[in-house]
Formats: sequence, structure tokens, C-alpha cells
Amino acid sequence: MLCYSTNAIHGKTYPILEAIQLGLAPDGGLFMPVQIPSLKPGWLAGLGQRELPEIAFDISSLYFPELPSATLAAICVDAFNFPAPVVSLNDSISILELFHGPTLAFKDFGARFMARILGQINANQNRPLHILVATSGDTGGAVADGFFRVPGIEVTVLFPKGKISPLQQKQITTLGENIHAVAIEGTFDDCQAIVKKALVDPEMVKSYRMSSANSINLSRLIPQSFYYFEAYRQLESAEPPVFVVPSGNFGNLVAGVLAHRMGLPIAHFVAATNLNDIVPNYLRDGIFVPKPSVETLSNAMDVGNPSNFRRLESLFGSTWNNVRQMISGYAFTDPQTIEAIQRIYNQYQYLLDPHGAVGLLAAESYLEENHPINPLIVLETAHPSKFLSAYEALDIQVHIPERLAIKAHAKDLSVNLPNDYSQFINWFFDAHNS
Ligand SMILES: *Cc1c(COP(=O)(O)O)cnc(C)c1O
Repeated sequence: MLCYSTNAIHGKTYPILEAIQLGLAPDGGLFMPVQIPSLKPGWLAGLGQRELPEIAFDISSLYFPELPSATLAAICVDAFNFPAPVVSLNDSISILELFHGPTLAFKDFGARFMARILGQINANQNRPLHILVATSGDTGGAVADGFFRVPGIEVTVLFPKGKISPLQQKQITTLGENIHAVAIEGTFDDCQAIVKKALVDPEMVKSYRMSSANSINLSRLIPQSFYYFEAYRQLESAEPPVFVVPSGNFGNLVAGVLAHRMGLPIAHFVAATNLNDIVPNYLRDGIFVPKPSVETLSNAMDVGNPSNFRRLESLFGSTWNNVRQMISGYAFTDPQTIEAIQRIYNQYQYLLDPHGAVGLLAAESYLEENHPINPLIVLETAHPSKFLSAYEALDIQVHIPERLAIKAHAKDLSVNLPNDYSQFINWFFDAHNS
């Protein structure tokens, strides 16, 4: 399987295993498969009998023919050891629950698969691979958990001290072993700057094999297409579904488009955003205008310059009309999000998280404007207990699942460092006694 960089469509190609080691293409572009693989004839007809790890194996072997089948099968069984159930809300709308993984957000799908693929590629190296990652919250937890105890890989997560929620922090800082957590006295951007500098620092490059676990890595994107197949399997509908995707960086939506291009029957996509409405504006006006991100209740979608937009463009040949035929977009405010959480809870006793609530609002708008006969599936990207502050104003008791609740009592193993590059490097060399 060969990949190209979105910055050089007719340029150099890279074998997929090299592309996922690199993360970002050397020219700064995002990797995409030169040819999106097609489902084997008859495969969809047999989908009803297949479990999520089997679906994952069938799809991923089309992308990773270089890896031995038995290895890939084991990776899929190990990575996807939790369900992705479809729950019917009413006659038109179902919810695809993507929060049953260890860190209670859909990012577990991408992080767990990427960790095991990278672990496999690096299995025969005599020096560990060091993954450096900066996080503003959700990504750090999923990456830390995904790579925990993967042999041959050491992970260092930098987070801004006091600027992520206490439970998010515990998801990163209590694992230990090959997961190193560093609280930086600064902002997320400061953490990001340290990581970027370290990855190209000659002293570091000489001493360590390094990579990042950036969300734009193709090995995080591909596994996100698996649950579109899993949802389709459970729905058993005669009409192809419309998928409604709460979006920030648009990796989730691009993964859906990949599933569609592979041959999964999908009628349409609805992109749901909060006030960071760059893509809904593009779909309306035809111009892509990034802007500084604004803070909202659905903070994992507070993205002002969605990086996967380049991938959408390359999938649709940069033609606005082609994009609009397949994707609609709607944006909503925090008060609308809160209203939707309360209303859906009252009406169906179903508790949405703020991201899923934005998705539900978009589903309602799409239904009202288009009256499709197709079923709508809203992707619920996180469990409500990850965003407790959103429920303070509501008369709703949020249940905290055991695997999150126990984190509150676990010991925080992070180290504190000032926002200073050389102190970080000194700590890093000490910690890995080189
Ligand atoms: C990351 C995240 C999103 C946004 O996903 P993208 O792939 O960046 O569009 C939505 N909801 C939750 C809970 C997330 O963590």
C-alpha cells in the first residue's frame, strides 16, 4: 500500500509503514492512500455475522498487506476488546456509542490501533521508540492508555498544569511504567512548542529514536472507519444511513468518507460543530476561512483550523460542489447544546455528552430540511462523565463509570517542570539515563 502527501499530489509516494512512522509527510502534508482499497465482492452480504475485531481485521488487511495476517488479527482482537453499540432513540435517529473504551472517548479506537501497529513495526529494534505528545485533554489519556505496556515504546505526555480537568489528568498520570507524564507550567501551546523542538533537536535525534502520536497519523485515521461498518451491520436497514459526526479536526468524518469510498453504502454525512464553524461556513459559502478557536462546552471540538480539511479536499478533488453533495454542515451554541441535553434526557431518558448533543441538534436540523427516508446515525463520541461541568446547571445526576472513578484515587506520578526547554531536556536525559 502506497501513500501520497496532500501537499504534493503527483509527487513522491511512501510505503504505508514508513508513512505511519513519519506521521506527517516531510513536505508538511498529510498522508493519504494512493488508492483507497475496495471491499471484496460479497463481503458486505456476510457482514451480519462478523464481530467488530473481525471487521477491523478484514478492513485493515486491505491497508496493511505488508503485515502478517496472524499479527494483524491479534492486534485487532486486542485493540477492539470493547463494543460499539447502536442504540435507537426514535423512528429516525439512532446513536452509535463510541465511548465504551478504556478512556471513555472514541479516540480509544485510533490510539489503541496505532499503538499496537507501531509496537509491531518496532518490535525488532534494539532501541526503544520514544513517542512525544502534547495534549490539551482527551488525546493524552487515549494515547497514554493505548501505548501502556506496548513493548519497545516509551511515551512522554506533556500537559499544561492546572489547565486540564482533574480526571483527565489522572488518566495520563497514574499509569507509570512506559508512560511518563510531565506537567508544564504553561499553556497547551507551550507544551506543543517543547515537543516540536525536541523532535528535531540534533542532540535528541542523536540519542533517541523519536516519533509523535499526532492525531493526523494515518494509523489513527484508518481504525476510525471500522465502526462505520459496525454501525451499518447493527442497523440492518434497507436504506443506506446518514451519518452525523460531531467534528473538530475532522478525522472522524474523513474516516467515514474512507468507509464510503471502500464501498460501504452511506447516503450522506452531516458535519456537526460548535461555534468553531469553519467547515459549515465552507459548505455554505465555498470558502475555507480558519479563525482562532473559541472555547465551548464541547471542548474537544474547539478547533479553529481543522487539519483534516486537506484530506477532505483531496478526497473530493477540491471541488466545493462535490463536497456539498455528500456533506451538510450545521453549527450550534452552548445554550442550544445544554437545551438539547436536557430535552433528550426528559423525552427519552438518554443522556448525551455535549459533543453528542451537538450531533443530535445537527441530525434534527438535517431531518427538518431534507425529510430523508434514510435512517440517521449520530456518533456519540464521549461519555457524559468526562464533561461533568456541563451538567452543573442541569438537574441531572451523571453516573461515573468504575474505570474512570477509580482513577480519582490512583497516585499521580507526573513530574512538574517550568516552561523551559532545557530543563525538559535535562529531565528527559535523566529519566532515560542516557
Ligand atoms: C476529538 C474529539 C472530537 C472531534 O473529532 P475529530 O476527529 O477531531 O473531528 C469529538 N468529540 C470528542 C469527545 C473528541 O474527543
